[in-house]
Amino acid sequence: MEKDQRIKIAVQKSGRLTENSLELLHRCGLVYSRGRDELICYGENMPIDILLVRDDDIPDLVRDDICDVGIVGYNVMHERRLELEASEMPVSFELHRTLDYGHCKLCLAVPESEDYAGPQTLQGKRIATSYPNLLREYLGKERVSAEIAVMSGAIEIAPKLGKADLICDLVSSGRTLAANHLRPVATVLQSQAALITTGARLPAAKRSWLERLLRRMEGVLQVRESKYIMLHAPRASLAEIRRLLPGSETPTVIPLEGCDDRVAVHAVCRENVFWETLEDLKGAGASSVLVLPVEKMLA
Ligand code: ATP
Ligand code: ZN
Repeated sequence: MEKDQRIKIAVQKSGRLTENSLELLHRCGLVYSRGRDELICYGENMPIDILLVRDDDIPDLVRDDICDVGIVGYNVMHERRLELEASEMPVSFELHRTLDYGHCKLCLAVPESEDYAGPQTLQGKRIATSYPNLLREYLGKERVSAEIAVMSGAIEIAPKLGKADLICDLVSSGRTLAANHLRPVATVLQSQAALITTGARLPAAKRSWLERLLRRMEGVLQVRESKYIMLHAPRASLAEIRRLLPGSETPTVIPLEGCDDRVAVHAVCRENVFWETLEDLKGAGASSVLVLPVEKMLA
């Protein structure tokens, strides 16, 4: 396949999303070679290459058709979307789906000694952030006006330096905030890793490879929590057993040789199966309960 016929996926080069993103592509069956410090990983078994870049560049790499797909924090994608919209520029990238890793929140946080009595407390304050557009949108929705101080890093020390009254920054565990004597008071945006694409602008050959990759990705993401469950059950309690199986579609019911009142039940559960569920199944008369991980799934 010609060079520009290959799909290019933009992934963060080195940061919080890198490992999970590369692992996801690997689990979709993509075999690639990654040299040290290399910016491109060439796919060996599919016409798909990975570009390793700074996360902030990913929305525009997709927007400008340099990459066909990107994996980036929802926060970064949405901030860029608002920025483009504000300057009336075409957005031309779209969210395909979120990926259930890289979870974090864009939070407002105040110094521990300060009170916070709701959004009106923000009126006239100075807020340090690297997400001015998301913050502006939030302030607009809450109908308050505050000054936005755009900073690119070390936001959490802004109040201490007297550069801002409070901050609006990404939080996952909250440890960094606590270490800087800050307290989260409101959530501006919930975020996780997101897959963005160019939408419909792809030539046919590329599109079919992309569709294949995206289908595999659905399978990988679905399978993560899924379990295959096998058990024996009294025929009479089948209805109750079915109700107890978490997130399962129609189970397979198999007769047991020489046993008229008991059957074997096999089902895929799309949610995690906890000990409590197994205990409830047992309570409903199930025996020989086996729970197996699901390796691959193609809908
Ligand atoms: P780059 O060098 O690529 O610009 P960066 O320092 O801007 O990296 P990271 O800190 O690696 O970016 O964060 C990448 C993304 O990870 C964030 O945009 C966000 O979506 C997500 N994330 C998850 N948890 C956190 C967190 N606690 N703090 C910051 N980002 C987080
Ligand atoms: Zn960045």
